[in-house]
Amino acid sequence: MLRVELRIPFCDLSAALASRGAATEAALLRVVRSGRYVLGPEVASFEEEWAGFNEAAYAIGVGSGTAALSLILRGAGIGQGDEVIVPAYTAPATWMAVALTGARPVGADVDSRTGLVDPRAVGAAISPRTAALVGVHLFGRLAPMASLRALADRDGLLLVEDASHAHGAREGELRVGAIGDATAFSFYPTKLLGALGDAGAVTTDDEQLARAVRQLRCYGQGSPPSDAVAIGPNSRLDELQAAVLRSRLAELEPALNRLRALGRRYRDALASAPELGLPQPAADGREPAWHQFVVTHRARDGLRAEMARRGVGSAVHYQPLPPRLSAFAGSGGFSAAENLSRLVLSLPFDPWLTDAQADVVCEVTGSANSSRACT
Ligand SMILES: *Cc1c(COP(=O)(O)O)cnc(C)c1O
Repeated sequence: MLRVELRIPFCDLSAALASRGAATEAALLRVVRSGRYVLGPEVASFEEEWAGFNEAAYAIGVGSGTAALSLILRGAGIGQGDEVIVPAYTAPATWMAVALTGARPVGADVDSRTGLVDPRAVGAAISPRTAALVGVHLFGRLAPMASLRALADRDGLLLVEDASHAHGAREGELRVGAIGDATAFSFYPTKLLGALGDAGAVTTDDEQLARAVRQLRCYGQGSPPSDAVAIGPNSRLDELQAAVLRSRLAELEPALNRLRALGRRYRDALASAPELGLPQPAADGREPAWHQFVVTHRARDGLRAEMARRGVGSAVHYQPLPPRLSAFAGSGGFSAAENLSRLVLSLPFDPWLTDAQADVVCEVTGSANSSRACT
């Protein structure tokens, strides 16, 4: 079988090191030589810097984005017997994090255009067992937090933000983390702010919740630390990852601006491509903090294969959807989410892509789209 070397892979993390390799290596070496590897000064400094960046009172570094979501829920006392409402269209980790607490994830359908959770569907899914709502800022677009806040306040529910796709995202007056009770971030290597492995964080203004998450991440360690005050996993952010994240924090804002420019460039170049649905700007016309540039096409799989043949990688976020996974079998009926899942295709979209590479992505996507392979 002929293996075609992709000219532009979907995501080439080694390309990112061209600009930031030296800073990353210096950060790693600093920790290696320090002799402090777990919960030391790098984690403490990163927590302070990440809280500042997010205008939050507290930030707690944890082992992953999944752990961040789980520990928020557990820290608020949510678990067995509770239900937590999550979008049907999200990464499987959002659902898994809920299930790991012992609570049951209950899906809500999404807006068929943006893929963001539909507050009416959330309202309809609320039951006497509902304990929390999770808004996911899908692909960098802010979830309808004001509507979710109204529902949460009406019924006394915890409101959580899954901001794994939305580090530093702002739309008009709104910013990530401003409306939820607590926000979960993943720093998985491909996220906007990425570590060299697994890493995550929780931000919140709630002192009690912050303390609970801090205890839970370190096997329930209380005060004095020799006592355990809760049953918790070991899910700490480690010093190496914290140092890497600190070395990259200053690049986040420029990266967001670069992605906004790239988003405009893609939309302009692909505007006349027949049958291709393009992600839309925010309500105020401004470009959101895109994490992925996700197009839709009725013959998505054909388009994807034709693009690969011409050397351009892509990805599907997400299929199957979480409610369709074996572990969650049984829930269905999310027609907008399921329809999107069949149509979506994520194009290569990283801040280190050059304009020339971006133009190749658009040229190939636009022309593969009109070829017979897709009909
Ligand atoms: C990546 C991701 C997570 C999970 O993050 P991990 O660090 O891989 O555990 C959760 N939610 C969303 C939307 C994600 O994209």
